[in-house]
Amino acid sequence: MAEKLNPFQIAQQQLDEAAKVLKLDAATHEMLRWPMRELHISIPVKMDNGKVTVFQGFRVQFNDSRGPTKGGIRWHPAETVDTVRALAAWMTWKTSVVDIPYGGSKGGIICNPKEMSDGEKERLARGYIRALGRFIGPEKDIPAPDVYTTPQMMAWMMDEYSKITGYNTPGVITGKPLPVGGSLGRGDATAKGGMYCLREAAKVIGLNLKGATVAIQGYGNAGSFAHELVENMFGAKVVAVSDSKGGIYNKNGLKFKDVMAVKTKTGSVTNYKDAEKISNDKLLELKVDVLIPAALEGVITEKNAERITGKIIVELANGPTTPKADNILYKNGNYVIPDFLANAGGVTVSYFEWVQNINGYYWTLDEVYDRLDKKMTKAFHDVHNMRKEKKVHTRLAAYLVAVKRVVDAMKLRGWV
Ligand code: GLU
Repeated sequence: MAEKLNPFQIAQQQLDEAAKVLKLDAATHEMLRWPMRELHISIPVKMDNGKVTVFQGFRVQFNDSRGPTKGGIRWHPAETVDTVRALAAWMTWKTSVVDIPYGGSKGGIICNPKEMSDGEKERLARGYIRALGRFIGPEKDIPAPDVYTTPQMMAWMMDEYSKITGYNTPGVITGKPLPVGGSLGRGDATAKGGMYCLREAAKVIGLNLKGATVAIQGYGNAGSFAHELVENMFGAKVVAVSDSKGGIYNKNGLKFKDVMAVKTKTGSVTNYKDAEKISNDKLLELKVDVLIPAALEGVITEKNAERITGKIIVELANGPTTPKADNILYKNGNYVIPDFLANAGGVTVSYFEWVQNINGYYWTLDEVYDRLDKKMTKAFHDVHNMRKEKKVHTRLAAYLVAVKRVVDAMKLRGWV
């Protein structure tokens, strides 16, 4: 039977596997299969042409047994409530695996920000917060950026929330620009956290990262910083990158500075001249040492997993690999650093930002990176040790670590 690609069904299937190994009782298992709460909202926005468009939005609060829920807001034309549910579940496992005192949530709006003016985006951002006002807050649920949302949008949202409370409330949202309570190091935190995991994975499998070949799918906040960081931190050679318009390949290497200059100027890496054009699908199958999927979900499936050769796969995107593909990659010896571990650097520095907002005392960049490195390195080895102990693929090992902590919290609180 063809594999299901609905992200929420995938998230439930992944949990079911972990529940079996952990021998969860039926009630505990059921609590973790479904969101604790979800909101569906309609947001009327006056567009520049004078007409009103009504946008549909969601906020899913998955589980708050370990602390207030935390998770980004996606603006995407193909957004669905099931995607948001899956991502809210993954946020629950993500905050748990890095052991920060949060639960998991996610938000989404069905819209195409690429076709909206700044004024329209601002009105939509503020409308979303007005609709959610009573359900979020620094002690309840703390949004952040995700696919196609930016620090500027976080600033508008924080401002709108502060108008509702009547006082400045920077701790309601993270990923803000520095002048309004952002944290140093939040910009490249997702990629940086992934790099600390990559460094540790390379040590355990004995791969020398200096000169190692790398392919990166996606050139947004995670992928572009990953390009810069693999060069600067390890001296690795990026041979292929891509964005939503397609990919480029040069076996002699693509320099971050040059590719980024073209992306900034023209809007796409595909306009970079000194490279061959390749499709996003082909990029995944290139013979490389390290593959970094940093775009959207569902790209590594049972259809292409056999052809993927990356020795280490660093999932900076959320949900890039399906369960059947996981088994194939494990059997073939590819070392997958699963999404909710590999990309947990973003929410970890979001946590640092929230701590700084609440204390009103701000850290240096070195303090942020040093604390991030410690959190990610510990999380990586917690998962790697579980992988060795239970002889399971790394995603299941990460689930075992993360789910166990959430279950412990639910039991101690007397929920199940
Ligand atoms: N959206 C990011 C993620 O998926 C960051 C979430 C946050 O900073 O709260 O992890």
